Amino acid sequence: MSELPVVIVGAGPIGLAAAAELRERGLRPLVIEKGSVAGSSVARWNHVRLFSQWSEVIAPAAQRLLQTTEWVTPEPESYPTGSDWSAEYLSPLAAALGDAVQFDTEVIGVARRGRDRLVDAGRDTEPLSIHVRSADGSEDRLLARAVIDASGTWSTPNPLGSEGLPAIGERSAAESLEYRVPDLADPQVRERYAGKHTVIAGAGHSALTAIVALASLAKDAPGTRITWALRRGGVGTTFGGGASDQLPARGTLGIRASQALEDGLLSVVTEFRTAAIESDASGTHVIVSDNGQRIEAVDRAVVLTGFRPDLSWLSEVRLDLDPTLQAPTEMAPLIDPNVHSCGTIYPHGFRELSQPEPNFFLAGMKSYGRAPNFLAMTGYEQVRSIAAHLAGDQESAGRVELILPETGVCGGAGVFDEPEDQPESDGGCCGAEPAEAIRILASNTAGQ
Ligand SMILES: Cc1cc2nc3c(=O)[nH]c(=O)nc-3n(C[C@H](O)[C@H](O)[C@H](O)COP(=O)(O)OP(=O)(O)OC[C@H]3O[C@@H](n4cnc5c(N)ncnc54)[C@H](O)[C@@H]3O)c2cc1C
Repeated sequence: MSELPVVIVGAGPIGLAAAAELRERGLRPLVIEKGSVAGSSVARWNHVRLFSQWSEVIAPAAQRLLQTTEWVTPEPESYPTGSDWSAEYLSPLAAALGDAVQFDTEVIGVARRGRDRLVDAGRDTEPLSIHVRSADGSEDRLLARAVIDASGTWSTPNPLGSEGLPAIGERSAAESLEYRVPDLADPQVRERYAGKHTVIAGAGHSALTAIVALASLAKDAPGTRITWALRRGGVGTTFGGGASDQLPARGTLGIRASQALEDGLLSVVTEFRTAAIESDASGTHVIVSDNGQRIEAVDRAVVLTGFRPDLSWLSEVRLDLDPTLQAPTEMAPLIDPNVHSCGTIYPHGFRELSQPEPNFFLAGMKSYGRAPNFLAMTGYEQVRSIAAHLAGDQESAGRVELILPETGVCGGAGVFDEPEDQPESDGGCCGAEPAEAIRILASNTAGQ
C-alpha cells in the first residue's frame, strides 16, 4: 500500500502545497483537478485583489520546489490579484509538479476499497478508492494510501435566502443573480450593472470589494444605485480593522467601502433576512425580508453570503463533522466565528483534520466548513503537518507553529448577527488593541 500515491483532491493553492510537501518528504502525490488549469477556482475571481501580500500566499515547500526552476519570485510585499496568484505562482507550481497533477478529472466519490461505509473490517489496511470522471464522461477508479480533500468550497456558494435554502423565487430569478464579485472591467459585465439598481448581500471581504467596485461605477454611470442588505442590526464592525488591520490591504478595503457609504453612494438596509424574490413582467424584482421589509425595483443582486462544503461525494467515508460549521469536530471550536473574536484562530494540523476514516483528511478552505475566516497560510501549515504525519515524522507533524494576522473582517460571510448596540470593543480584532489580538501560536500540543 505504501507504493500507492497520496491522492489530493483539487489543484488549488492548498492542494498544490500539499503535493509539494509530500514530494519533499519522498512520498508520491497525485493531484486530481476537475478544471483544466491550476487554481481553477481562483481563476473565477481573477479580477479581485487579495488582501494578503505575496509573502503570505506562497507555501514554503512550494517555494523551495519552484526555486529549482526558472521561476521568478514575485515582489514579496506587493498584493496579487487572483489572476496574478494563478499565473505567477499556481501555474508554475503545477508545471513543476509535472505529471503529479492530473487536470480535467473530477473526483465523484471516495470509499474504502471493496467496502461501503457500514463495513468495519479492513478500514485501516485496505487502500482508499477514488472514483473519478474525465472530461469525456468516462469513469475510472484509483487507489490511494491516503486522501487529502483540498477541493475548496467555491462551487457551493450560500444562497440569498437567509434560511440557508434558496429564497422563494431565487431559482427563477437566477439570471439576475451573481454569486461572485462582478468583474466591472469587462465591458459586457459593466453594461449589466451601469444605470441599474443592484442589491449586495453579505458582510465579508467580497461584499466590501463589490461595494467599492460598484460605487466607482456609480460615479461614472448615472442612475446606478446600490443597496447593501445586511442581516445584522447595524453596520457595526463590518468594515473590519481599518488602519489597524493586521492585513493592511484588507483594512484599506474597509475604509474605501465605508467612504462609499459616507459619500451616499449606497443605501444600507439592516435586519434584512431575505425570504423571497418577487419578479415582475418588466424584469425587475422586489426582494422581501422575513420581517416584511421590501427592496423595490431591483435589477440585479450580488449574493456574497459565503460558502459551504460539498459533502455529497463523501457519503462512503466516515466523517466526524461539527453539526454547525460542517468542519472537523476537533477543529470547530478553534475556528468557530460565533465563539471566537477575530484573531483567535488556533494552530491545527493533522490531528484536528483527521477523520474516523483512516488516512482521510480535510484541508484548506473546505476544512473550515462554513466558517468564513480561512487564510491560505493556515492551509499551508495544515498540509505541512499532514505530510509530516504521513511520512512518519510525528514530531514535526505535531509541532504546528503559526503566526496569523488578526482577521479584521470578522463576521466574514455574515455568519453571525451582531446586535446594533453591541459595543465596538466586543469585536476584538476591530477594537483598539490590535497588538493583543495577534496570537503568536506555538507548539500545538493537543493530544500529547
Ligand atoms: C475572493 C476571495 C479572495 C480571497 N483572498 C484571500 C487572501 O487575500 N488571503 C488569503 O489568505 N486567503 C484568501 N482567500 C481565501 C482562500 O485562501 C482561497 O479561497 C483559496 O483559494 C483556498 O484554497 P483551496 O486550495 O483550499 O481551495 P480552492 O482554491 O477553491 O481550490 C480547490 C480546487 O479543487 C478543485 N475541485 C473542487 N472539487 C473537485 C472535485 N470534486 N474533483 C477535483 N477537483 C475539484 C477546484 O476546481 C479547485 O481548483 C480568498 C478567497 C476568495 C473567494
